[in-house]
Amino acid sequence: MDSSSIGSRNISGAGDSRALAVRKDLAARAEFGTDRRRSGRTARARGWTLALTSVVFLFGAAVGQAVPPVNFQGKLTTAPGIGPVLKTQKKDFPLAGKTSYLFHTLQDKRLLEREVRLDGVERADGTFEVERIYTVHDGKLFRVRYYCEVCNIEALEPGTCVCCQQPTDLQEIPVTHTGP
Ligand SMILES: [Zn+2]
Repeated sequence: MDSSSIGSRNISGAGDSRALAVRKDLAARAEFGTDRRRSGRTARARGWTLALTSVVFLFGAAVGQAVPPVNFQGKLTTAPGIGPVLKTQKKDFPLAGKTSYLFHTLQDKRLLEREVRLDGVERADGTFEVERIYTVHDGKLFRVRYYCEVCNIEALEPGTCVCCQQPTDLQEIPVTHTGP
């Protein structure tokens, strides 16, 4: 909601003592104006970032670097000297993570030998770059998250809670929707 437009509508519609009250109200809000302008700049900066990201993405697509995401289901294992590997019925994929959080999750011993579905892209070097990790139980997908029950906060990767420093729990949340 844009409060300044409401303010001007009040002024034009008033034409009596109420206009003065509105003007006083606007003056009282003047100090908030600086904050609003500042957040406006942030929004514009975000807009630029978004625009640049789109340009980079389009450029990547044009030179054939943007590969559509795919998914593979198999067993999460680890190989000496290689790291996490997904064993599927057809082939084994050495795994990389799109983020370090994802890569650390792929290395979580609690997920070893588990049936997982990984969404991501196949890289030219044969590795599979993981963008999403799901565990699979009876053909159903579960989202993996790290959670601190004490602080009620979610962590991005295995380890200790940023708040209380206690180990977080690995939780699996049933997925009802796996949109893009
Ligand atoms: Zn905690």
